[in-house]
Amino acid sequence: MKFARFFVDGTVHTGVVSGEVVREIEGDVFGDWDYTGSVFRCDDVAFAAPLVPRHVIGIGANYVASSEQRPAELPDIPVFFFKPSSSVIGPEADIVIPAGVREVKFESELAVVIGKQAKCVSEEDVWAHIFGYTVANDVTAPQFFHPDGHWTVGKSFDTFTPLGPVIETELDPLSVSVKARVNGVEKQNSPTELMIISISKMISYLSHVMTLQPGDVILTGSPVGAELVGPGTVIECEVDGIGTLRNMFVAAKAPAVSVS
Ligand code: MG
Repeated sequence: MKFARFFVDGTVHTGVVSGEVVREIEGDVFGDWDYTGSVFRCDDVAFAAPLVPRHVIGIGANYVASSEQRPAELPDIPVFFFKPSSSVIGPEADIVIPAGVREVKFESELAVVIGKQAKCVSEEDVWAHIFGYTVANDVTAPQFFHPDGHWTVGKSFDTFTPLGPVIETELDPLSVSVKARVNGVEKQNSPTELMIISISKMISYLSHVMTLQPGDVILTGSPVGAELVGPGTVIECEVDGIGTLRNMFVAAKAPAVSVS
């Protein structure tokens, strides 16, 4: 099933996309829900981010260019980071490049949506805790990475986490490719089998650190090919079976952050 959120007359509704239409639902997408009977043509509505995440957790440097480059040993501590839920936007919303920098990086990623509480879950049991998958763009301003290695500021600006267009609950995440196109030109296209730390490993690891809850979103890393881009760039992130997440980069109108 493809779950989505969409705007009708300025208010956000939840629904299930089937073919050319979206059927409105009410209730808890992670629990009990029902169809309301209202049906909208997809072409007639604007899609929002498919959920308001509880947490957004990313993993860094998680793809190799080819299977021969796979490291012999996995890192002891994966490079996890948080992104604020305030950075989440939906399809077609503008990604705002902070004033003071000319370009930021796009990172097309497969995003996992947790559906059942996960605490100390084994790799084998991870799958029962996953609700579905969406596409993410882990927008990054490396100019704001702290020299000591902290990524928080560079990952956290408003609009830096586009998600969508839908959450697909029936995807096989091990048999899809993660792609990105910049102004129509392909820049990223890698099968998820080129991940260094697998989905089951990363979620099992995280669940031994923190209790994962429904609505937590885990960005599984970006394939090789991510680049810096400037205002006016149209970015399309795509995962087979989920869809295309399209956004445009624009320049900020307000000044960048300052601590002075
Ligand atoms: Mg990333």
